[in-house]
This record gives sequence, C-alpha cells and structure tokens, in this order.
Amino acid sequence: MTTHVQTPATAQSRSASAAPTRTYTNAELAALEHKFTAPNYDPLRAVLTTGNGVWVHDVEGRKYLDMLAGYSALSFGHQHPRIMDAFFNQAKRLTVVSRAFENDQLGPMAQELCAFTGFEQVLPMNTGAEAIESAIKTARKWAYLKKGVAKDQAEIIACTANFHGRTTTVISMSSTPQYKDFFGPLTPGFKLIPFGDLNALKNAITKNTCAFLVEPLQAEGGVHIPPEGYLRECAQVCKQNNVLFICDEVQTGFGRTGKDFAWQWDGESARPDILALGKALGGGVYPISAILSSREIFSVFKAGDHGSTFGGNPLGAAVAREVIKVMRDEKISERAEKTGQWIREHLRAIKSRKIKEIRGRGMLNGIEVHPEAGDAHHFVELLLKECVLCKETAKQVIRITPPIVITQEEAEWGLERIAKVLGD
Ligand code: PLP
Repeated sequence: MTTHVQTPATAQSRSASAAPTRTYTNAELAALEHKFTAPNYDPLRAVLTTGNGVWVHDVEGRKYLDMLAGYSALSFGHQHPRIMDAFFNQAKRLTVVSRAFENDQLGPMAQELCAFTGFEQVLPMNTGAEAIESAIKTARKWAYLKKGVAKDQAEIIACTANFHGRTTTVISMSSTPQYKDFFGPLTPGFKLIPFGDLNALKNAITKNTCAFLVEPLQAEGGVHIPPEGYLRECAQVCKQNNVLFICDEVQTGFGRTGKDFAWQWDGESARPDILALGKALGGGVYPISAILSSREIFSVFKAGDHGSTFGGNPLGAAVAREVIKVMRDEKISERAEKTGQWIREHLRAIKSRKIKEIRGRGMLNGIEVHPEAGDAHHFVELLLKECVLCKETAKQVIRITPPIVITQEEAEWGLERIAKVLGD
C-alpha cells in the first residue's frame, strides 16, 4: 500500500506552500533514512507523518498511541493548538536575531520563566546537553571567581547511571561505556557517586568541589526515584560545603513527575542553585533549553564568555511563553500526578509473571520486566505491532511516558494493549 506524504492539515491550512507530492511507502522511507543518515540510531519501524494530541500516523495510514512523547518533549501532546498558534504567529513576525540585538520576546519570556520557577535569571540555550554544558561552565567559573578554587582544579560530582546529554564534556561524566568509548580524550574534573546515596556525596566533596549535578529522578538510567528527603539533604550538604546544587530537569521538568519540577517533591528546602530545563520548554515544537539561577551566581559571566547563535531567539521564546501559560491554565502538573497514579494502578493490576516492578512518579513511569521473560526491547517491538509506541531504557525497563494531556479513555486504549503483550 502506498500513500502521498502530506504535510499535516493544521500546517497546510496556515501555509500556502504545496505539500510534497512524491509517493512513498513506509518501507521506502525507512530504507532512505537508513541509507542516508549516520547509523547512530536504530529507530523502531514506524515512519511517522502526522500527529495530533496523543496520536500519530504513519505514511500508510496506521494510527499509533504515542507513549514516549519525544522523551518528554511532547508533554502537551502533538500540535497543541495554543502552542502551535504561538509558534506560527511568531514565525510570521520575527524568528532569529542572534543575541547581537535584543528582541521583544526574550525579556518577557525570561521574566515569566523566573516567575514560574522562582529563580532570578535565565541563561537561554537550545538543547538539553547545551543547558548542562552551560551549568558546568557556570559552576566552574563560580568556583574560580567566588569560591577560590585553584585554576583548572574544579571538580563536579555526578551520579552513576546519569544521563545528561551527548556532548564530549557531558559524556565525560557518563557511567555508560557505550556513550564514552572511542570518544576520548574526555574532559577531566568529574567524580561519580551512586544515585540516592547521601553519605557518598558527603565523602566525595573536597575543597575543589564546585557542584553536585543530579537528575531528581533518573529517567534514562531506568526510572529510579531517590529516597524521600534525598534531594533536600543533598541541597543542605551542598550549602554547608559551599558547593552548588544543580538539578537536571531537562526531562523531569514542566509537570512530568506530577510537580512543576521534580525537586519540589522534597519541598522548598531542596531548591537547587542551578536548574537545567529543556525538552517540554519548547512545547514539542521548537528546541529551547535554559538554565536558571541567581543574579549572584550568574554575575560570574561577562559579555562574550559564553553564548549560542540561536539561544534566546524570539521564536523559541514565544513558544516557551505559551508553554508556561498552558502549564498553568491546563493544570498540567496536577493532571500528571492524577493520571500517572491511575496508570500505575492499572499497570499493577495486570496479572503477569513477566513484570518485575511498576515504578514511577506522575507521568514518568517504567515497567521493569524479568530478564527471563526477555529484554524490554522485545516487548517494545511487540507493543509497536499493537500500535503502541514506547521505548526501553536500561535493558529491562519499558518507559511509559505519554503526553501528560492524555485522557483516561486514551490511556485505557494503550493499557489494554500493554496487558495483551505483558499479561499472562
Ligand atoms: N538531561 C536529561 C535528564 C535528559 O533526559 C536529556 C535527554 O534525554 C538531556 C539532558 C539531553 O537533552 P538533549 O537531547 O536535548 O541534548
């Protein structure tokens, strides 16, 4: 069966440009992607062409439920009408100016993001990895200028099984051999400790430690929730030792775990010194990331120290402004908490000898399968055949992270198929 590859109806109605006319099958498009892109990915065989809400379609008209949501980039679903309008309206006015000039969206976006998060200033970037790079550079410069660490001696403590992105510096603190092997020489200055282990943090701090970087819930590492109070205690230990506490909420931010930000699970005293955001900040439409901190910490930067051509552009800023409004108006975090709880209950009700554990917070959930039953990837392939899109992480865990806006009825559609694949 063949179909025309068409632009989505919403895009067509807003744009006069003609839809592509070449006709392809799923298999032809998969072969093209395979042949003409570097083999650093091995996508599941679903060639997607349109999306709306929690649903996506392939070029042959098959409909899938998206239970991955772009690794949380699509927390508001595909083609969220308000976010799309913000995007198109801004796209028609002004898109990119570079930070050589000011623009009419960045200031208001930064003000609104500060009000939403309770921080004083924003440093805008594009991708999650760039946000982490920016946090590392901020912490290092702070160490030399404010803490008095000797030149080039600053250390950053991170956790094993972390995932903070793919740049050379960021992979230098990865504990996953595949992410680092043959990419050296790597960046020095990182120490790894086990996630959730407060004593390990206390023991790892030296006079040269400038920061502790942690995901408040390890998603890629296998959906690991820290012990209660861990983040609060980490924040205290950091404060006592004059070490910056950095939370990577590139994936957990914007309601994913049932709070606006996952550090809030441990209350206000767990507030980080630097918060890294990405993914959902761009509404599933546009890559925008940022770090947030205080004026005092950001004062280590002077003009020209750090930057990005696209960082802070008006198109991304306009999208982020609408995302913040949607967060509030649609009570995204409350919905994530409620629907997520309901999804976990239903997953736990599946009678299955294959499932070892269901765990998660809000709408960031994982199904751990027993190794004897097979790898998580095997079940992800079976779910694909049932038109449920999800992805494995850490070999034995299937991530269940649909758009937060999913309704119970839509979730039920997916849960029935998950039960079919994993149930006895
Ligand atoms: N930090 C965390 C916690 C992530 O989950 C990711 C991506 O999955 C990143 C950073 C990197 O983000 P990006 O892929 O946009 O560079």
